[in-house]
Amino acid sequence: MVLSFKHEPFTDFKNETNQEEFKLALKKVEGELGKDYPLIINGEKIYTEDQLVSVNPANKKQVIGRVAKATKVHVDQAYEATLEAFNSWRKISFQARADILFKAAAIVRRRKHEFSAWLVYEAGKPWDQADGDTAEGIDFLEYYGRQILELSQGKALNSRENEHNSYFYKPMGPGVVIPPWNFAFAIVCGTTVAPIVAGNPVLLKPSEYTPVIAYKMVEVLEEAGLPKGVLNFIPGDPVELGDYLVDHKETRFINFTGSRQTGTRIYERAAKVQEGQQHLKRVIAEMGGKDTIIVDNSADLNLAADAIVHSAFGFSGQKCSACSRAVVHKDVYDEVLEKVIAKTEGLTIGNPTENNFYMGAVANKKQFEKIRTYIEIGKKEGKLIFGGQSDDSIGYFVKPTIFKDVEPDARIMQEEIFGPVVAFTKGEDFDDLIDIANNTDYGLTGAVISNNREHLERARYDFHVGNLYFNRGCTAAIVGYQPFGGFKMSGTDSKAGGPDYLLHFLEAKVVSETY
Ligand code: GLU
Repeated sequence: MVLSFKHEPFTDFKNETNQEEFKLALKKVEGELGKDYPLIINGEKIYTEDQLVSVNPANKKQVIGRVAKATKVHVDQAYEATLEAFNSWRKISFQARADILFKAAAIVRRRKHEFSAWLVYEAGKPWDQADGDTAEGIDFLEYYGRQILELSQGKALNSRENEHNSYFYKPMGPGVVIPPWNFAFAIVCGTTVAPIVAGNPVLLKPSEYTPVIAYKMVEVLEEAGLPKGVLNFIPGDPVELGDYLVDHKETRFINFTGSRQTGTRIYERAAKVQEGQQHLKRVIAEMGGKDTIIVDNSADLNLAADAIVHSAFGFSGQKCSACSRAVVHKDVYDEVLEKVIAKTEGLTIGNPTENNFYMGAVANKKQFEKIRTYIEIGKKEGKLIFGGQSDDSIGYFVKPTIFKDVEPDARIMQEEIFGPVVAFTKGEDFDDLIDIANNTDYGLTGAVISNNREHLERARYDFHVGNLYFNRGCTAAIVGYQPFGGFKMSGTDSKAGGPDYLLHFLEAKVVSETY
């Protein structure tokens, strides 16, 4: 009997014992930095001369690990392995597949701080953010294990006299998983194990910025009993491998989380039927966001300020759910700004491998440059009232940055920055607040801070986002509680961590027998 799903609790870092235990995990991981990691194809470890070098974004000189780089030849080999593995994996019982996920969850739970410590080193996550990332990975394992058991029953159909109809789910075949660097454990884990537990072997191409933690996840699944060939680990150069993986005639699905630019490219390419391809490819794309917190004039303004600060600057705004636009009623605009500035002044920034800072460095040079460019654009589009400074002498540090009086159509109000930058604009009344909030290409998350029930109800239907939050921030969705995914150019609204997610990787079959 499987216990009902409950999300993994978060670690309280105010507790000194927890702090000491976390420091020990950081020490342990520090002792393991700089190793070589192979590709894994059909269970075989393959080391290559050409390698990805993963570094600590808060200390660029510190090498986290060197990871083998796959070529197109490796992709072909991996596909051969998946096709063979599919023959047996698809027939293994739903329960046996779920059990591998449950065991993997148990393994990670026992070594939870160690996984979080890898995230601190490789992804630059502050402690609480790393802890949340690891917890979410455990949740995906526990949740999708339970979901496949539910789906194993199929669905009820009508039958007639002398006719029995059945409806059940079958896997599709091998596919590709292309996850991002920002949830380097959780999203890598969730987007990989979902198709796998549904019976589909996978080629996993992790982000070139966080391949070591992805390797650690693959190791756990192997330890939990995943047969060879079901999960093939093929890190590499995204330019060299990306199109090839998407175009491959054996690709049944592409499970992608990342930028809008890459997502739309994948969507377009996947539509083309290649020679010898006997199926249509499915694309599950979770792309960007330009997420708004609305503050109404009836709101609790301290709560509003907390929600904005945490959603804008938690993990330096490097979440597709992050708040990059605050749309505030004119009656409370100045007061909310004052409170947000006061709270932001109290945030600590530093290398999270050294201490428990609120913010660490941003992920890499490319992101650092992009954020700086937007800060310069922002200076022309609004008034810089906090932050704006950056320093990449040791790591990629960017101060939390606040702009005010930005027009709704300004670039920093429309384009995804993926950094610790938030822009404020004023609205005349609640209709205006909703209109400004909806005025973007994206539709991922949003929040409304209000004590006016009628306004909240209007937002429920008119604020066009996949994840809408009332009286809290717009980040930190929890598996099984707030399934995650958005509308418009935010993607295919796949609702990761939700009851329909596994259906993306299954086909329904009807068998009708006449007696
Ligand atoms: N699910 C995360 C959240 O709710 C964001 C995921 C992402 O950034 O891709 O904050």
